Amino acid sequence: DQNKFQAIISHCKEYGFVFPSSEIYDGLSAVYDYGQYGAELKKNIKDYWWKSMTQLHEDIVGIDAAIFMHPTTWKASGHVDNFSDPMIDNKDSNKRYRVDHLIEGYAETLPEEAGNALLAQMDELLKENDFAGLKALIEHNKIKCGISGTVNWTDVRQFNLMFSTQLGSVTDEANEIYLRPETAQGIFVNFLNVQKTGRMKVPFGIAQIGKAFRNEIVARQFIFRMREFEQMEMQFFVRPGTQKEWYEKWKEERMQWHLSLGTDPAKYHFKDHVKLAHYADAAVDIEFEFPFGFKEVEGIHSRGDFDLKQHQEYSRKKIQYFDTEINQNYVPYVIETSIGLDRMFLLTICNAYAEEDLSTADKQDSRVVLRFPAKLAPIKLAIFPLTKKDGLPEAARALMNECKSSFHCFYEEKDAIGRRYRRQDAIGTPFCVTIDHQTKEDGMVTIRHRDSMEQERIPLTAVKQLVLDKIQ
Ligand code: ATP
Repeated sequence: DQNKFQAIISHCKEYGFVFPSSEIYDGLSAVYDYGQYGAELKKNIKDYWWKSMTQLHEDIVGIDAAIFMHPTTWKASGHVDNFSDPMIDNKDSNKRYRVDHLIEGYAETLPEEAGNALLAQMDELLKENDFAGLKALIEHNKIKCGISGTVNWTDVRQFNLMFSTQLGSVTDEANEIYLRPETAQGIFVNFLNVQKTGRMKVPFGIAQIGKAFRNEIVARQFIFRMREFEQMEMQFFVRPGTQKEWYEKWKEERMQWHLSLGTDPAKYHFKDHVKLAHYADAAVDIEFEFPFGFKEVEGIHSRGDFDLKQHQEYSRKKIQYFDTEINQNYVPYVIETSIGLDRMFLLTICNAYAEEDLSTADKQDSRVVLRFPAKLAPIKLAIFPLTKKDGLPEAARALMNECKSSFHCFYEEKDAIGRRYRRQDAIGTPFCVTIDHQTKEDGMVTIRHRDSMEQERIPLTAVKQLVLDKIQ
């Protein structure tokens, strides 16, 4: 539903959730900034994940590793050699395309059966690294990506997706370092540090949230695929032989985390990887139904002992664990859960966004509302004095002062109450409270609920606890 998606993108900008990066200079492709409400929403998602991983699991601890890592890290991890995608350039426009995206885009325009056959052919060629074959497939199908006339394609070549830069002042290949393309390696290289200092016993996990960078060639669909993004990753270290059970457990647990936010389960499904990395023994994606179709938000991977073994080999340091229960030394196996914070943000917005027709027989009316789960909403409570006089602002300010250290409140005294409500609907505030002239007499206020738009009178003194109960 592309119209809905365009409306969501506009809404994100209009209400201070997401702006194109450096917009006054016309933006930077596939880079975005989070605005005043976006930053709050993003932080709430992050906190929800962090708490569920670390605070609620006694066997998981969190770390915060640096973005820069020793360059050998990326040789050991395989990223220097393998983290690349086959690309092709249009010689006339110098535009570069990711081969798989180009072919996938074309396949979507075909009848289902023909499209699937084309994708199967592509997968086969990608697996074989058959670049000539891929180019032939593009030319044979006259894939032109909307360009009229003939297209002069270059050969298909591999481009590494890692950003590199120079450490220190000397420009010299030896000083070349990368911006991390995933956060996981910061966890692997710290395995022994954490295990020893935390006296952790396998099975245990290490969680991390942080920026990652990928020089994505085709960056489409707003913040779905960015060049600078954030990941929330957890590596769970287990005794070899038990990885299947743990994989199933994490698969289940991660889906429950998503559903705990109240999302309709029909909007989620698992998708098994057909092509497994050579070291992985199982891998699955959690996909969500975005307005542009079911797409990956999170991956759960059973990675064996590949990563720790690689770092052991490249660093020549023993990375092992002595398991006192079985009196054995081993390199633990790893189950990874990896979710994109920005993708989860997009999911949350897409899932919350609703355009509602509120027309009655004598009046046309509508609203846009973001039905966020209360715990994720940027603002929890809006506080309105009905008018700007008669001591109402003072009473409203007093409530603000009572609540603002416990959760995020918003104070406003301008415009009619109805318009103030609609502005809060548009940023997803679950509760609005209005202080009116009667409040002084009976101590009651009007609380208005975002989703039902229902209003009720409750004691002023009960407001704070009511909101706290809903955001726990
Ligand atoms: P894709 O197939 O979409 O490129 P991937 O399989 O390479 O993703 P992983 O390496 O498994 O992704 O990364 C884990 C998670 O990080 C993904 O599920 C996604 O949520 C997020 N992610 C990966 N690349 C990006 C990106 N360029 N922008 C935003 N989020 C990303």
